[in-house]
Amino acid sequence: MINIQTFVFNPFQTNTYLLYDETNECVIIDAACESDREKERLADFIKDQNLTPVRLLYTHLHVDHALGNTFITEKYNLNPEVHPEGKLFWESAREFSSVFNIKFEKPMNPTAFLHDGDKVAFGNSTLQVLYTPGHADGSICFWNKKQKFVVVGDVLFQESIGRTDLPTGNFDLLIKSIKEKLLVLDDDTVVYTGHGPETTIGYEKIHNPYFDLS
Ligand SMILES: [Zn+2]
Ligand SMILES: [Zn+2]
Repeated sequence: MINIQTFVFNPFQTNTYLLYDETNECVIIDAACESDREKERLADFIKDQNLTPVRLLYTHLHVDHALGNTFITEKYNLNPEVHPEGKLFWESAREFSSVFNIKFEKPMNPTAFLHDGDKVAFGNSTLQVLYTPGHADGSICFWNKKQKFVVVGDVLFQESIGRTDLPTGNFDLLIKSIKEKLLVLDDDTVVYTGHGPETTIGYEKIHNPYFDLS
């Protein structure tokens, strides 16, 4: 049984998800903590729950999702795992962050890559990687079939979708990704988004104004 703990970090109010099961192994999805206080909150939770972080996963590498990368990789000795198509973003993370007037501590140089269909194992649990470009190249979702949830980053939001005006953004491709990879999941699948509240696939099929399913 996977437990999901949500943290909201940095001025962009980005969701960081901590997933852990009965073995106490945990994975961190999108290390978005920026201030010392935020880093402490995350580390305290891990310590208090007696968790062992075993993997650091990214839905994509927009800087607001990766501000805590140096802290997490160094503190827990983890290697960030990303989709290889996100190369532009890890190569330019520092330039992007200076545009937004935020500080990206050290350049990222990922060496562990995830692809569509890969299984991500931790403890007794498994997540499946879904490749969903359109918001940003290299965008992936992490789906758990058994417990029916999916962590989507900035691909899909409650009654909205990810913006497509940033480099590599493509509206038609994003809609295609959502329809082919997410809307095919069961209606009661819970969607954990990169910003804001969670939703479900069934709710979005009815209420999301961005795709016409008729
Ligand atoms: Zn993004
Ligand atoms: Zn974001």
